[in-house]
Amino acid sequence: KKLGIALVGLGSYSTYQLAPGLQDAEHCYLAGIVTGTPEKEKVWMEKYGIPKENVYNYENFDSIAKNDSIDIVYVVLPNSMHADFSIRAARAGKHVICEKPMAMNVEECDAIIDACKKSGVKLSVGYRMQSDPYTNEIKRLVSEKPFGKVMYVSSDAGYISRGNPEQWRLDRSLSGGGALMNMGVYSVQSNIYGVGLNPISISAQEFSTRPEYFKDTDESITAQMEFPDGTVGHMFTSHNASANRLFVSFEKGWVELNPCHSYGPISGRTSEGNEIKYPHQSQQKVQMDDFAKHILMGTPNVAPGEMGKRDMIIVEAIYKSIAEGGKRMPLDLGDMGIVKK
Ligand code: NAD
Repeated sequence: KKLGIALVGLGSYSTYQLAPGLQDAEHCYLAGIVTGTPEKEKVWMEKYGIPKENVYNYENFDSIAKNDSIDIVYVVLPNSMHADFSIRAARAGKHVICEKPMAMNVEECDAIIDACKKSGVKLSVGYRMQSDPYTNEIKRLVSEKPFGKVMYVSSDAGYISRGNPEQWRLDRSLSGGGALMNMGVYSVQSNIYGVGLNPISISAQEFSTRPEYFKDTDESITAQMEFPDGTVGHMFTSHNASANRLFVSFEKGWVELNPCHSYGPISGRTSEGNEIKYPHQSQQKVQMDDFAKHILMGTPNVAPGEMGKRDMIIVEAIYKSIAEGGKRMPLDLGDMGIVKK
């Protein structure tokens, strides 16, 4: 059986990544759409052969509960709408994929997790890198230790935002924050899988060079993390600099992915001069198939709601550290969001 997915929000990520990725998926397919733009309905129905009864708008969305051909609702809206639609999807009895960053704050993450628990549905965050073979090779090197223990990890994620300063990503009421909410979650994620542990503290600094463009949201942020085994971590995220890298330094060598967080092909190498290389395929296809397999076959949920919540706890600690002049913020995360294979 293939599970039916309904995409909520037909913006650029749904249009150019998720819908095409679903065309090759083995365990799920594009069954429905939810859109606030009536003109998109016909275009998508024709392009993907979606029947009228599987097309919803934001108002009649809750009646999706009665539609047995939709198993999973995938929320791909601006961040301020993630919690509302994820909770409504859960109450409709549908499994939920919620895009990153999971929500506007930790409180909203809790509300999504609770709603999914109450309805007995599965929840995943749109962290496509957790299904990516390069990411999983890093996790293997960290756990099997061919280069010894990790000593230092560093991760950068950013791009130069130009053009429309009115876009939702730069409007705090819709995004919840700037570079950190959009790209910084990738750095947080890769620092954590680059060590295999959650950080025990974080200190952060913010940099602003184009305040006339970034009126409402953070432009660039650096942060330093301490891990319980003594590993030191560093991250940089920006809407004003291109950066796309993970560097893991071990006792006896290093590994680097650069580019690291983009849709691929990813590129990797080790201190021994070996290239890390996998055949390229849609990360989104693999991610959605992973979630469908979790539902159908009970394989691990590689990006559970707790992982999205943990990252939001770290995001909030970063903003708090900045507000307090770079103060070291202790974190008490235990193994929250760490998925064991
Ligand atoms: P987008 O701006 O291209 O699309 C947003 C969609 O939301 C549009 O269809 C728009 O019509 C709709 N919308 C509804 N209310 C809106 C409002 N008040 N303001 C603006 N748009 C509104 O954005 P996107 O790039 O598709 O991003 C959507 C979500 O997906 C975000 O949460 C983003 O972080 C996430 N995303 C994830 C990845 C990834 O690699 N996992 C990549 C891109 C985007």
